[in-house]
Amino acid sequence: MRITFLKLLEKPVTIQYPDERMTIPERARNRLFENHSDCIGCGQCVTACPVDCIVIETIKSTPDVDLGTTSDGQKKRLYVPTFIIDFGKCCYCGLCTYPCPTECLKMTAVFEFSEYERYKLIYNFSTMTKPEIDEARAKLKKYDEEQAAKKAAAIAAAAAQKKAAEQAASPGIPPVTPPPVPAH
Ligand code: SF4
Ligand code: SF4
Repeated sequence: MRITFLKLLEKPVTIQYPDERMTIPERARNRLFENHSDCIGCGQCVTACPVDCIVIETIKSTPDVDLGTTSDGQKKRLYVPTFIIDFGKCCYCGLCTYPCPTECLKMTAVFEFSEYERYKLIYNFSTMTKPEIDEARAKLKKYDEEQAAKKAAAIAAAAAQKKAAEQAASPGIPPVTPPPVPAH
């Protein structure tokens, strides 16, 4: 009875959550945050994740587009229309944060984000809108087609020039005029 009575006088080790809150350690690993404006779409976080819960999609920018730089001065060359983290799968290991070259992926102190619906734990950090994504895709498609056409024309011109040179070296065969080489 004496021991029981003494225990009643001790300070409790539990707290009355949620009325009381524990102090979260400074380096605690809780929900991730991605500062999307600093993401260069390198995919190193995806490679590092042991449970494959990060999904990103990138679109190359064309030479006439300037996507600007990150806050630490790195040039951005890729659009990142999708940056998804499935927090239902995440094991909060923090391995994705270490290789990030721009330090835009960080673990925060936020631990209260439970949901009733599983899909609500799938976060997309991308800030691109659907029209912006469509425009970036269309621009890249057009640029790729133009580059392919220029390459094909250059190959055809080189082949014609070679043929003309061979004919010039063989008397009796009428020379072939090579097609003009497109401007780059
Ligand atoms: S904390 Fe770990 S499990 Fe979660 S996204 Fe990063 S690497 Fe993947
Ligand atoms: S490692 Fe960093 S910069 Fe690279 S894709 Fe992931 S969040 Fe973006």
